[in-house]
Amino acid sequence: MKSIPQELVERLASVRSIGVITGAGISAESGIPTYRGAGGLYDDPEEGQRAIEALSGETLLKDPDRTWKVLRDIARHAQGAEPNPGHLALAEWEDRAERFALLTQNVDGLHHQAGSRNVIEIHGNIKRVNCLRCSYQEALPAKALLNLECAPKCPDCQGVLRPKAVLFGEMLPEEALRRLEEEFHRHVPDLLLLVGTTALFPYIAFPAQIARAAGSLVVEVNPEDTDVTYLAEFALRGTAGALLPPLLAAFGGVAQEKGQAQGPK
Ligand SMILES: [Zn+2]
Repeated sequence: MKSIPQELVERLASVRSIGVITGAGISAESGIPTYRGAGGLYDDPEEGQRAIEALSGETLLKDPDRTWKVLRDIARHAQGAEPNPGHLALAEWEDRAERFALLTQNVDGLHHQAGSRNVIEIHGNIKRVNCLRCSYQEALPAKALLNLECAPKCPDCQGVLRPKAVLFGEMLPEEALRRLEEEFHRHVPDLLLLVGTTALFPYIAFPAQIARAAGSLVVEVNPEDTDVTYLAEFALRGTAGALLPPLLAAFGGVAQEKGQAQGPK
């Protein structure tokens, strides 16, 4: 097991509220190719570029079959992926913290699957669909997605279904943005944990800047340096699966000691 710096263990003692931001890295550890990096799925870079074009809001409206075939390919590569120890540690952490919010850029639903509850899916969820014509929305059965040859149709009105994921060139979902602001801007968490994200997008880097300016503890968990490393007081180098369980244990250990200290003498 990786060890957590003693200074960080001590700082965790005063943490009451936790905000976590996860990116493609934690999903990659479960064997999921990144949807936004869809190009990586294909050996030929040109083919990769075409896949990214296919995953745009524009293509979905003009040629939904093309978009859905790429989504199917991504789903085939991700087949059988399960939450890893990093996902599971985050879910357990939520039970122990007074306040907990998890913002993810991943569209695979693995945080929900691991048991996390207060999850903000800023790029949506690829496993859910809604109709472009009527109000129908549902979870798309995995089997249907893996075997499709054209865009799935709405059972109510035969309109084209779309994934409830943010495609290239599309706006972020309003509800997710509202919750992001509530959980990360209005209530700045005592601890902000950046996991497996390069924080390329301003809406990912901004909460880290706010947390740092507010004097919160900012911790990065990533195998390599990223654009937000400079904001992290502690940059832990390694995978989420290797680092989050001992980090959770460090937090739990402190909480337990405190509980004992406050108990009847
Ligand atoms: Zn419909």
